[in-house]
Order: sequence, then C-alpha cells, then structure tokens
Amino acid sequence: MYETVIGLEIHVQLNTQSKAFCKDQNSFDEAVNTNISFVSLAHPGTLPRMNKSHIEKAVKLGMALGCDINQHNFFDRKNYFYPDLPKGYQITQDKEPFCRQGKVRYMSEGEVRTITLHHIHMEEDAGKSTHDQDGRYSLVDINRAGVPLLEIVTQPDFRSGQEVSDFLAELQKVVQYLDISDGNMEEGSFRCDCNVSVRKTGSPELGERCEIKNMNSRRYAKNAIEYEAKRQIDIIEQGGIIHRSTLLYDPEKGVTKLMRKKESENDYRYFPEPDLPPLFFSETFLEEFSSQHQTLPIDAYLLLRETYHLSHSDAEVLTEAKETFAFFIHLSEKLSDSKDLCDLLILKILPHVRKENIRLHNFARDTEILHFIELISSGKVSKSAAYQHLFLPWTTDTTQDITILAMSKGLIQSDDQSFLDELIAEVIESNPGKVAEYRKGKKGLIGFFMGQVMQKSGGKTDPKILQNKMENILLQN
Ligand code: ADP
Ligand code: MG
Repeated sequence: MYETVIGLEIHVQLNTQSKAFCKDQNSFDEAVNTNISFVSLAHPGTLPRMNKSHIEKAVKLGMALGCDINQHNFFDRKNYFYPDLPKGYQITQDKEPFCRQGKVRYMSEGEVRTITLHHIHMEEDAGKSTHDQDGRYSLVDINRAGVPLLEIVTQPDFRSGQEVSDFLAELQKVVQYLDISDGNMEEGSFRCDCNVSVRKTGSPELGERCEIKNMNSRRYAKNAIEYEAKRQIDIIEQGGIIHRSTLLYDPEKGVTKLMRKKESENDYRYFPEPDLPPLFFSETFLEEFSSQHQTLPIDAYLLLRETYHLSHSDAEVLTEAKETFAFFIHLSEKLSDSKDLCDLLILKILPHVRKENIRLHNFARDTEILHFIELISSGKVSKSAAYQHLFLPWTTDTTQDITILAMSKGLIQSDDQSFLDELIAEVIESNPGKVAEYRKGKKGLIGFFMGQVMQKSGGKTDPKILQNKMENILLQN
C-alpha cells in the first residue's frame, strides 16, 4: 500500500492600491501595458521603494495564523531571464522569510484537521506572457509585473487531493476574511503549486517529489494530485524511479506533463537586494496586529455549529463571506431563536443579493428583517406564504410596512383575533382625546376608530367583527 504526500506553495496577490515597489496601480484587468511606469519597466536608474500596505497585509496574515514573526527582515534577488521579467530578477525573500511556522485548521470529511506552515514570504509577481498556439510569437503584458505577493509554503502534511482541495477553500476564505486578497483562483490572484510524492505506507522517509505548477482551480488540483500519485506508483511498481521534475497539468486530458527538470537553487544566484534597506518590525508595530482580533472562517463555522446548532451546510453557507457571518450574528443577538433568520438568509436574501449583484449591507434593513421574521415566527403568516408572496414585493417596495404589505396581499387572516386586538389597542392608545369623547357619549366617533383600524389592516378586516370588538373594548372601564 502506498501513501500520497503533498506539500503546497501558494501565491496570493494582495489587494493593495499600488504595486510592491513603486506607485503603479495594482490592477491589471485593464488594457494591457498601461500600469507600467519606468520602475515596472526597469529602466536604468530606477529604484524600488517599499509599500507599507504590502508589509501590513503580510504581517496580518502571519499573525492570524499564529506564525513566528521575524523582527529583522530584508529582501533578496532571484535572478532569471524571461521576457515578462524586465528587471531580470524578482525581488523576494530567500533565506529569511518574514515569518515561519504557524498552523491552519480546516474542515475535511466532517472533522477539523490541522496542517503546519513552513513559512510565508513577501515577493513580487512577474508580468504575463501569452504564447501563440503555433509557437510563432509570444505577447507580453507588464501590468502584473511588481504586483505584491505572499508565498505561503506548507509542510508536506497533506495525504490526499481531497484534503488539499478542502484546505485551499479554507485558505481562500482566510485571505478574504482578513481583506488582504480577493482569493480568486480562476482569475489567478490565488495560485497553487502542488508537490507530490508517494511512499510505502508506514515508511518514515519521504519519496522523491514532482511539482505540479500553477493550479488555478481546486478541482484541478485534486484531480492532478490523484493522477500524479497513480503515475508515480505505477513507475515504482514497474521497478522505475521518480525523477524530481516540474510538471504541468492538462485539465482536458486529465494528465500531468513534464515542463522541465528541476533546476538547482544555484541557478537563481540569490543574493541580498542592495536597493532596499533592511526592514525592522518594532514591538509597537507588531502589537497593532496582535491586538486586532481577527475572526478566522473556521472559528466562525465552528461557532455556528456548536453554539447556534446549525447544520453543516447552513453553517458553511453563512460563513462563506465574513459579511454574511457578521450580519447573521448581529441579528441573531436580537432574536430568541435564529432558525428563521438562518432560513430567510439562505433561502431568500442571499440568492436575492446574488441575483441583483448587490452587497448584503446595501440590502439589509435590520428592523425590517426582524419584522419579517416576527410575522413568520408568531404564525401570523405561514413561512411558505411569506417566502412565495411577500418576499419579492417587500424587497421592491421599501416604503411599505411589512405588516401592512402582508395584509394587503391577504396573507394575514382577517379573523386573526389577537392581531386585530393589537391593532385596536394601538388605535385606542394613540387617540386618548377621541376615546374620552366617545366614552362621554359621542358615539359617532366609532366610524373614525374603525377607519383607523381598517387602514392599518389594509382593509382586510371584516367590519362587523371589528365594530363589535371595537365597541366592547371602548366601553370597558
Ligand atoms: P523548493 O524550495 O525546492 O521548492 P522546499 O523544500 O522549499 O523546496 O519545498 C517546497 C514544497 O515542497 C513544500 O511545500 C514542501 O512541503 C514540499 N515538499 C518537500 N518535500 C516533499 C516531498 N517529498 N513530498 C511532497 N512534498 C514535499
Ligand atoms: Mg519552491
């Protein structure tokens, strides 16, 4: 029996305003080669300058994952030639990454699993090359050159493609919760290299590994790992040996292909970056981040499972975005039971905001939502009627009171006695003068009182029942 061993290197593009070492805008989904100053193009005489936000976002992540942060930092040059790298080197951190260790907890197959990080370091992205199918020419876009990156390197702690996929989902959410990156794999702001080896189960030594480059989807990563492990096992079973190499995954054919034999470290001729001063993190700077309480998505998920007793899938949906989770907690605190809120969010509000392409906080009217839930939980309107007939009119007409809207749609039964009592009590309470007059004998006022209640009920009240009730109540005491 064989065991698969996987370690990951993940590149995360940070959502800073400007690039890592110059003022160019950090945004490359615009026209090609527009965010490119002399610095990005590496004209002679230009010099890099550090970006505070790059560093802050790096430290924020390191702290949130419980890493040991280095106080003394510097950058290195990684030298190689490629057309999308105008400087001829990448500014990175080689021997001394800004942080080491740290752990990531994630859910896999219904349980909490933990992996250890090897380190995280800061670096910059290269430009983007697009190669002509027939190999005649390549197009180079420099917009991406110099975009701030973090490289997160894990220990070889994963044992299956499924674990890797679940872990990546968690890490994407972590960077989104911390607001350091959009974590979008398809668009390339979150890319993963998978190092895969196999060994006989129980063997203490690791097997030789191959590295599958640039996975841009969790499903591809899982499939690529499963294919690659099988390929390696087949070679070993046939008496062959694994050569360390760099591979590419072809998602259409579902196979890994050789890209290059792994170059040795020396090829890159790493040396300290002479154009940037050493970087010192003072205690006060670090404290700023440790004192900020950062909710991690796994903790949000576990809170909803354990304290709010939500199902796995409900908790998963409500913690997909930090905004949704925060919104749920905020409103739950005002309710004795949050099940109706959970359902309303998942079944109606979230699909609605997604469809309308608006943010939850732009939709959300706290008190109105509480009223909506109150109508359901008090039994005045059935849940299915509220979802089917009330939700949409309510979202489109924001001026109407939800109760009145429900009445005008005929969703509240007119013989709902306690509800009618409530409306009568309201009318009596807000018209003490008229009540006194009525009691002194001005019986004609009954018309006024009934009119008020009718209006509040949207005309859905039976006038005979109402008149009877109204007179009885007015004549009491
Ligand atoms: P390099 O710097 O050459 O890429 P590292 O030793 O830094 O190599 O490891 C890079 C990644 O490969 C890490 O995520 C690590 O966990 C993983 N890794 C190292 N050895 C193995 C192995 N035998 N099998 C699977 N993954 C491995
Ligand atoms: Mg590497």
